[in-house]
Amino acid sequence: MRANRRVSHRERLFRQALWRAGARGYRVQARLPGRPDIVFPKLRLAIFVNGCFWHGCSTCGLPEPKANADFWRVKRQQTRERDVRAERELATNGWECLTIWEHEIRPDPRRRASELALLVQERRQFS
Ligand SMILES: [Zn+2]
Repeated sequence: MRANRRVSHRERLFRQALWRAGARGYRVQARLPGRPDIVFPKLRLAIFVNGCFWHGCSTCGLPEPKANADFWRVKRQQTRERDVRAERELATNGWECLTIWEHEIRPDPRRRASELALLVQERRQFS
């Protein structure tokens, strides 16, 4: 639970940075498969802000904790499977999914936020 709270704190900081970078008009807590963290409804763009440990980030490759190794392995495996299912379901409904990893926005979320703001701006020009 602690890890989850920390991630939602990161997510909040990222949203603030996104707002400051000029990307407005997003929704949070959208009722979509997998409950994406940030959604741009008109662009049909769904963004997941994922913690590197829980969602098994391959860049960081964080090891399983030694205590209760089986428990963590199963739990992380389930999370990854849920992610894949949600993305597939969203894609079927015409949504594009984007994953923002914790390591991309930590400690400073501004660079990633500007990149995303730029992408949103470009999409809006051509839609
Ligand atoms: Zn990572």
